[in-house]
Amino acid sequence: MFLPKLREVKEALTSFFTAPYTTKFPFEGHTPAPEFRGLPKYNADYCIGCGACVQVCPPSAITMTDDTEKGVRTLTVNYTSCIHCGQCEEHCVTEKGIQCSNEYSISVMDLKAPEVYESVEKELALCEACGGIIAPKDQLRWIKHRLGAKAYAHPNLLLETQREFFDLTPSRPKARLRREDQIKELCPKCRHKVVVEDEFYGF
Ligand code: SF4
Ligand code: SF4
Repeated sequence: MFLPKLREVKEALTSFFTAPYTTKFPFEGHTPAPEFRGLPKYNADYCIGCGACVQVCPPSAITMTDDTEKGVRTLTVNYTSCIHCGQCEEHCVTEKGIQCSNEYSISVMDLKAPEVYESVEKELALCEACGGIIAPKDQLRWIKHRLGAKAYAHPNLLLETQREFFDLTPSRPKARLRREDQIKELCPKCRHKVVVEDEFYGF
């Protein structure tokens, strides 16, 4: 009966004379551990706009919107839904496109405040025949770098490579696809049409 009480008194006295384990946040800043998973942040230099992070995000906190008028893809993290699981960082195809930062404090009165959102914009490659989306240009260049010389077998990748060095104005969409359209930047559907119609129906 008596011994447990003595142990508690000893614990209380030890705690009284030692520094607290808790931090004094918000009066003093808290330094997170190195492996802390804070607010995820995009790095526009490494993000290629592939959208893999959108697919792996468990609470669907990341959205992807494509604007074909402006030719831009926007990826946005909504911090009010983010559960800081780190899946986006873990599955990012470039490994550095999105990373959990050390930031953790996000106190706002308005849930639509800009601080609640983290976005990155990527320029889209659009089909020269139908205007549909092919992929973000950075994604095409990333694939091309991974494939090396093999990439030159595909006109889309070849044209994106040429655009890295000089301006190539895209042609205007035409009513009918022809054999020469094979060397244009086309979406899979239009490329299929060009190849199949050329092979089986003639022009
Ligand atoms: S590169 Fe990474 S961060 Fe960018 S869209 Fe793809 S998975 Fe997401
Ligand atoms: S940390 Fe998790 S919840 Fe937050 S954006 Fe990334 S995948 Fe989604």
